[in-house]
Amino acid sequence: MILLHPNHLQPDYPDERSAEVMRKTVEFFETKGLQRIRDDDQAAVWYQDFIDFLKSERIFATMCTPADYGGDDTRWDTWRNAEFGEILGFYGLPYWYVWQVTVLGLGPIWMSDNEAVKQRAADLLDDGGIFAFGLSEKEHGADLYSTGMALTPTGDGTYVANGSKYYIGNGNDAAIVSTFAKMTDTGEYCFFATDSQHPNYRLVKNVVHSQNYVAEYALDDYPVTDADILSRGEAAWNAALNTVNIGKYNLGWASIGLCTHAFYEAIHHAAHRHLYGMTVTDFSHVKRLFTDAYARLVAMKLVALRASDYMRSATRDDRRYLLYNPVVKMKVTTQGEDVINHLWDVIAAKGFEKDMFFEMASRDIRALPKLEGTVHVNIALIVKFMKNYFFVPADLPEVGQRNDDANDSFLFDQGPTKGLGTIQFHDYAPIFERFDLPNVKVFSEQAEVFKTMLATQPPTEAQSKDTDWLLAVGEIFTLVVYAQLVLENAEIYGIERDLVDEIFDVAVRDMSEFAVEMHGKAATTPEQGEYCMAMIRKPVQDDARYKRVWEDHVYAQRDTYKMPE
Ligand SMILES: Cc1cc2nc3c(=O)[nH]c(=O)nc-3n(C[C@H](O)[C@H](O)[C@H](O)COP(=O)(O)OP(=O)(O)OC[C@H]3O[C@@H](n4cnc5c(N)ncnc54)[C@H](O)[C@@H]3O)c2cc1C
Repeated sequence: MILLHPNHLQPDYPDERSAEVMRKTVEFFETKGLQRIRDDDQAAVWYQDFIDFLKSERIFATMCTPADYGGDDTRWDTWRNAEFGEILGFYGLPYWYVWQVTVLGLGPIWMSDNEAVKQRAADLLDDGGIFAFGLSEKEHGADLYSTGMALTPTGDGTYVANGSKYYIGNGNDAAIVSTFAKMTDTGEYCFFATDSQHPNYRLVKNVVHSQNYVAEYALDDYPVTDADILSRGEAAWNAALNTVNIGKYNLGWASIGLCTHAFYEAIHHAAHRHLYGMTVTDFSHVKRLFTDAYARLVAMKLVALRASDYMRSATRDDRRYLLYNPVVKMKVTTQGEDVINHLWDVIAAKGFEKDMFFEMASRDIRALPKLEGTVHVNIALIVKFMKNYFFVPADLPEVGQRNDDANDSFLFDQGPTKGLGTIQFHDYAPIFERFDLPNVKVFSEQAEVFKTMLATQPPTEAQSKDTDWLLAVGEIFTLVVYAQLVLENAEIYGIERDLVDEIFDVAVRDMSEFAVEMHGKAATTPEQGEYCMAMIRKPVQDDARYKRVWEDHVYAQRDTYKMPE
């Protein structure tokens, strides 16, 4: 089975320690139980119990220390990070978040040339430390150009930092906060290591009410020396963007984990609820909602897993991950919202109950599309790749499944962030041709119409500057890339043909919806509008397939998992 099941974790790690990390993490939550998870959530309790567990089991040391800086068990391994992130999301977004901001905080450190801070970070991880990423500011969010945090030389070779940061997770307790600033003398950007317990580090407040501490902090004449500086100038700029390249991938796994747990809960409830002499799961619309939710969830997982293969195989000459990662960030997380919406339409009042995991999931699923760059920011990024993706495919090495125990060292050596428009991709058409399935065929035809529209009625200059219009185009393009990644991994995992066709039944309907949206845009020309109309297609109906998917895949999950109270 492709969905995470706490009692059947994926067994194929090359080393025992990786499997142990996953097993012990699951054990921690299963022992804590749903009731205490819910109580802590409702009382917004800081998750010290979880941090203590991570420390006693050296989990962040194993998972977050690159191979060169730690013991035998340490490496940065996106394959195992994926399952770890999924498990944390499965038990609650707060637990995932403490890891996520640690990953972000470590990014500028592992990307730095400052060997002393790197060694210190490794020691702190070994000692159970958590980390933070101080990028966003209150007035200008993630607009790095407007960074107000200032680092001023004092004249004796040292500096003082002044300014504040906002929305900084773990900012109350992080062993190191990687703080992004501007030098007041040269105007250069820089990252420096900050100690959250220093007297000149002022913790202003938690800006959210939750188990997370999402800090506003201020630095008041905070003393900094060269020994604290992680990077300057272009290197600091690149470290900011390259860290987000790594971190944004994890958001997909939080969504997948939340949705998987919510799915088990919802189908269990519906399959045991009887109304008007029938079971809720007998209603045709309920079957459709669950089947769509399941198809979307499997697709989310296939895409996120496949993106990991490209991330792990990336080089300076093969930067395909720079398209696939924002697709995971933007599309997997918004699909997560769709999954929860479908499930909630079924379980209705039950989804509000304070004892359900669902109540947490339905609230927290909304966060993922908005963090680390909004959906808009990521679509704006994705459309930069559209021309080369469709019209200038390259002969690039085929990337297989990357479940080996490599240390993903390239991620901390990604280099310049410029030149996105020059990145090339392999031709997406062959993978669609290899799947002789009715709905894959319909979807390919829709994609072909879109491509023809781009070739014959390309965006006008005004359209290219109209973000609202570009977002509509970007949704369609993203869906094509998403479908490609689904198929590549469906082939690798040998996903049953019925299920793949069901996933594409959903994709055909989604594509039609996006075409209507684009058709309705004021800026769309009548000629482009005609192509939009031609993209509206009906999926190929196959009652027998639908029934098999329902019985063998969807309804089959009704009693699969229930979290201990
Ligand atoms: C719970 C939580 C935890 C967080 N943790 C951290 C953290 O640990 N460290 C950290 O540094 N930050 C953190 N953040 C900040 C988070 O990354 C930003 O909130 C997020 O990037 C969105 O920025 P914003 O909310 O300031 O939106 P704004 O930048 O104010 O954007 C406003 C609107 O403009 C749009 N927009 C902005 N720029 C563009 C663009 N280039 N193209 C198209 N549209 C655009 C946006 O989509 C949005 O609709 C956190 C935020 C929250 C809520």
